[in-house]
Amino acid sequence: MIKLKKISALYKNKNIKSKLIKLLVFYFSSVLLITSCMKKDVSNSYDEKPYVLTTFTILADMASNVAGERLSVRSITKPGVEIHGYQFTPRDIIRAKGAELIIENGLGLESWMYDFVNSLGSVPSVSLTDGMKPIMIEGDAYSGKPNPHAWMSPKRAMNYVDKIVEAFIEIDPDGENEYKTNALIYKNKLAKLDKELRDSLNLIPKERKVLVTCEGAFTYLAQDYGLKEAYLWPVNSENQVTPRRMVNLIEKIKESGVPTIFCESTVSSKEQMEVAKESGSNFGGVFYVDSLSDPNGPAPTLIDLQKHNIRLITKGLVFNAVNK
Ligand SMILES: [Zn+2]
Repeated sequence: MIKLKKISALYKNKNIKSKLIKLLVFYFSSVLLITSCMKKDVSNSYDEKPYVLTTFTILADMASNVAGERLSVRSITKPGVEIHGYQFTPRDIIRAKGAELIIENGLGLESWMYDFVNSLGSVPSVSLTDGMKPIMIEGDAYSGKPNPHAWMSPKRAMNYVDKIVEAFIEIDPDGENEYKTNALIYKNKLAKLDKELRDSLNLIPKERKVLVTCEGAFTYLAQDYGLKEAYLWPVNSENQVTPRRMVNLIEKIKESGVPTIFCESTVSSKEQMEVAKESGSNFGGVFYVDSLSDPNGPAPTLIDLQKHNIRLITKGLVFNAVNK
């Protein structure tokens, strides 16, 4: 059985800086809470159901599939927002204080979680990568830290679903059958996606099975589905683009002869387009990785996101390769 973490137990022994941040956040939260109570309770922006918050849109989609009609699921960050260094707001805290559960990815993805959960009191949280063996980042300033993007491999996304089921049963034992049934239906969809991904990647000639992206977010997918990867920077952060990283990537692209390179929706593609130009490769478009798109965009769900990426990969590495 999964053990949900109580925030207070999990995040103790913290430094003065954090306490100051907590005090400031508490102050602004209180001001907002008072003003919002004067208008209407913030939680009324959801329906009457108990609600669960996730740190980003992709986890919200997965959790919604498991929750069915029993729970409301919402994401703290909006579609398109950069999630690694997100700056949470007092409103986020107020929403989270009313939640039954906070769902995070873990593995250092949400650098803001420490201060966030420190401001909540006793709302339980679960990290969906707990117990998962991480792949470590290699050969950069982040060397030796875990790569957090495990959801990008459909195979591992199924483990996320299992963790969500366990956490939901913990907060709502009466919903066990419903959560398990919903999870089974969703995992079947992920299994179909797994096959579609394998079949599509099999079309790529072996020597061109190199996925070049802006962020090193495809490490799990690459390992589980037989690709090599190269990227402009390992994890989204400040100062992520440096001339040295650009030159290194240009050299790798020239060596491998990969015809098409890509970037991701939550960061600027400007430098990657420059890399494409300098290396003589094509720029193949924008992947969705750290966030879903808006409902009307190409990636409103995790499954749509994967299908969108698969289409770009196939177009860039199979069909463009023929004309190269
Ligand atoms: Zn990322």
